[in-house]
Amino acid sequence: MKMTTQDYIDREARYGAHNYHPLPVVLERGKGIYVWDTDGKRYFDFLSAYSAVNQGHCHPKITAAMAEQIEKLQLTSRAFYNNVLGEWEEYVTKYFGYDKSLAMNSGAEAVESAIKLCRRWGYDVKGIPADRAKIVVCGGNFHGRTTTIVGFSDDPASYGGFGPFAPGFVRIPYNDPEALENVLAADPDIAGFLLEPIQGEAGVFVPDEGYLKRCYAICRKHNVLFMADEVQTGVARTGRMLACDYEGVRPDILILGKAISGGAFPVSAVLADDVIMLTIKPGEHGSTYGGNPIAARVSMAALQVVKDENLAENADVLGRIFRDELGKIRSERVELIRGKGLLNAVIIKPMGGRTAWDVCLSLRDNGLLAKPTHNHIIRFAPPLVINEAELREAIAIISKTIEGFE
Ligand SMILES: *Cc1c(COP(=O)(O)O)cnc(C)c1O
Repeated sequence: MKMTTQDYIDREARYGAHNYHPLPVVLERGKGIYVWDTDGKRYFDFLSAYSAVNQGHCHPKITAAMAEQIEKLQLTSRAFYNNVLGEWEEYVTKYFGYDKSLAMNSGAEAVESAIKLCRRWGYDVKGIPADRAKIVVCGGNFHGRTTTIVGFSDDPASYGGFGPFAPGFVRIPYNDPEALENVLAADPDIAGFLLEPIQGEAGVFVPDEGYLKRCYAICRKHNVLFMADEVQTGVARTGRMLACDYEGVRPDILILGKAISGGAFPVSAVLADDVIMLTIKPGEHGSTYGGNPIAARVSMAALQVVKDENLAENADVLGRIFRDELGKIRSERVELIRGKGLLNAVIIKPMGGRTAWDVCLSLRDNGLLAKPTHNHIIRFAPPLVINEAELREAIAIISKTIEGFE
């Protein structure tokens, strides 16, 4: 007997950990900007797996790269060399303009790796006394789910009940360069500043123009590493290859994940120059799957697609249209539209107890999938392979849905 949507949901609830609250839709197929549910209904995917699927679902070139490698060699561990990892390392370091790259699997692992690198640089190069290095982070941050990372989050849903936490982090308000200057001037033991150039999970919070540049200059002045977590904003999502490109800032440590594999395989990376990367010596850091041949092939194909198909430019142009058009929605319910490129959020005013979740259910019924973040924010992030006609069709669905909520 054919399983219903509810059957699938019930089975997950019965056997899976309850660590997510998914929108009730069960997907079984994806192609480009669309996904289909188990009843064959088609949806615009306006989440793109939190911006992992910038290249669109099941991109043929990424799929082909994976299929070819999967028949040949899948995993060697780093105990031996393989013939693909070096090719990927050369490819990504030249692509992003760094001396060295470090391959990991998840975004959180890449952030952890960056933290270790930063502390090691702090001791070996900056000369901070042993075990005293600190890293400055921002209010509203989201950098992943390890105990170290959630320990410096200010979102109780992330850290609550998971302590005790690792020391060595100082949190300052986001979008406040003065706060950074004050804390760096007062404390010589600070090794790095970790930030998202746009805060994705916080609700696509875009800092003031000039913020990144000023923070970078402050870090230079105090000999502190500027570490950009571009796991969500990187790889063309915001209309540039990196969100930091908007201000001409080259992070000392660049953290990437999500779309560097186009959603086909978990791949993450840390990029830095030799003076930082070479502070970690053989045997001091690693990952069994990190930099495996499938990951390396998939990631090169995924990054090549971003260039070949001009996805950054497409995100830039279509993002403007998206914000302009949504700005025209005459609705008591829309408070603000913000974002860059095709990473945008609509902040709705809760009315009569109905929240962003209710709007997302209604969007689903109308053929478009998006996910609320917090009670009143909906993030809209379609695959970057979307074209203008398709975007306008999606905008019509969003407008109709929101206007129908009066
Ligand atoms: C998603 C995300 C992460 C964590 O990536 P995972 O692959 O889920 O571990 C880290 N930083 C940012 C900014 C993210 O958006």
